Amino acid sequence: MPHRYQIEPVDPAAHLFEVRLRIEAPDPDGQQLRMPAWIPGSYMIRDYARNVIEIRAESSGKPVALNKLDKSTWQAAPTEAPLTVVARVYAYDTSVRGAHLDTTHGFFNGTCCFLEVVGQEDERCDLKILPPPHTDAWQVATSMRVSGAERYGFGEYTATDYAELIDHPVEMGVLEMAEFDAGGVPHAIAIRGRIRADLDRLTSDLKAICEQHMSLLGKPSDLDRYLFLLHAPGSGYGGLEHRWSSANICSRDSLPVIGEEKVTDAYRNLLGLLSHEYFHLWNVKRMKPAEFSPYRLHEESHTELLWVFEGITSYYDDLALLRSGRIDESSYLELIGQTVTRVLAGDGRLRQSVAESSFDAWTKFYQQDANAGNAIVSYYAKGSLIALALDLHLRRETEGAVALDDVMRECWKRYGESADGMPERGFEQVCNEISGLELTEFFDSSVHGTEDLPLDELLGSHGIRLHLRPAAKLSDKGGKSADGAPAVWFGATLTQNNGRTSVATVANGSPAEAAGLAPGDELLALDGLRISASTIDRRLQELQPGDRVDVAAFRGDEFYETSVEFEATPVRVAWLESCDDVDTDTEALKAAWLS
Ligand code: ZN
Repeated sequence: MPHRYQIEPVDPAAHLFEVRLRIEAPDPDGQQLRMPAWIPGSYMIRDYARNVIEIRAESSGKPVALNKLDKSTWQAAPTEAPLTVVARVYAYDTSVRGAHLDTTHGFFNGTCCFLEVVGQEDERCDLKILPPPHTDAWQVATSMRVSGAERYGFGEYTATDYAELIDHPVEMGVLEMAEFDAGGVPHAIAIRGRIRADLDRLTSDLKAICEQHMSLLGKPSDLDRYLFLLHAPGSGYGGLEHRWSSANICSRDSLPVIGEEKVTDAYRNLLGLLSHEYFHLWNVKRMKPAEFSPYRLHEESHTELLWVFEGITSYYDDLALLRSGRIDESSYLELIGQTVTRVLAGDGRLRQSVAESSFDAWTKFYQQDANAGNAIVSYYAKGSLIALALDLHLRRETEGAVALDDVMRECWKRYGESADGMPERGFEQVCNEISGLELTEFFDSSVHGTEDLPLDELLGSHGIRLHLRPAAKLSDKGGKSADGAPAVWFGATLTQNNGRTSVATVANGSPAEAAGLAPGDELLALDGLRISASTIDRRLQELQPGDRVDVAAFRGDEFYETSVEFEATPVRVAWLESCDDVDTDTEALKAAWLS
């Protein structure tokens, strides 16, 4: 008997959804009900049950006692008749991992709203989505299968089981919709925000990107629809993947303007984001670590493989922009240069491997503090560089016979539709097997170790030169040959808030650290001049290595003075260029990689 869920944006001004759940055949010993502690794709304990502000149960019109067993689990008193549970959920989290409701719109992930019927997770879940009380102008956008509702309307939806029910985020409000076909599959994008944008251009770019991904791994057998949910406020960036959809945030200004043809950096970022989430529909939503098969959403699930699922996805997201003709080669090389720069920026890469970063994502990557750059490495950024290095290594060593594309196709064949998932060493095994190479050393140093990757040499053998230069300013992202005159090394980053300039981070071994500056300190003056995030770059360009200048600062409300002895800036900013004078073999290797 299917579980019948109902959700109603009952009090938008108070940010409250009312969620009802009717269980036809509750456990005769007393039904347990549980809220997830985390949402797949975002590896941090979020304890969604904390937003349940009221909950009660009833059966045959009479109240049924609910006893709380732990932070996320309730037990209903035994009842033989169907059991109905009614909860009110506070929804005021604007992220893609939460639930948000106000008088302008509603958004929710099922993990935030729907109780799991423990022991009956495999039952079908029907969902009725009700409109808000104050307007009839809202539409509904979700990839959940319609059962009685009109398309984009309120009403009846259905999911095969609980895991699927919570894998379809729902947006409701006044939406800008656009539909397109990709590989014969109906796709749509639903945008929330006050936008004026060229949606024809966006959908034609998305079609090309989606079809590029489909051509690599083939259309999954159950991919019969796909929806991009996109929230476009003044600022923001991020996404969360689902099996038939993704929830994304980008700044309004990253959308393309009607009449413009250039790919702005912001639009390139947006396409990269949507490309990333789309690639996940293979890599982590269907093919996933054994540890996530099935997901256990009440506690942390540790795997060393997040670098495969996020890093390789981060490699293919931008590569697909190039291969589908959305950006050109120099734009793609700029993106690689920026990623190399991000990885080289922190000493954390020398302390933590991507396998460790994956394993500890719950407490480290997802809970970054001011020391993160010194302590951890991103399994996204370094993971994507490992994918790049592996791809180039395979191509070179097999003279173009085997590439990462082949590895991914084989992984997809083995683990894509399997219920068991990829074992911890599964990816490495596939690489060894299909290439015939002995890659243990490669993985030991790149994935399980902390050595810098031999990108210089690998890119060189594909006709690309990797250059390193010192940063020219604090926010030098790299990717370009120069970004102003070289500056001396300070080693602190700054934030500006309400006219105050504070230290955000301090690099280990830097002049800022030697001077005793610490995260959170308010900086007043450097060399007798007021310091701000907008003037610091100019000051650093005026100084020379060896110069010592006074700094005035507050720690808390206590004033102190110190001095900084500046050093030469470390050479850690990367940019890439294509070599003209390469032989035909190298040219062929490069062409096979990039097209
Ligand atoms: Zn991702």
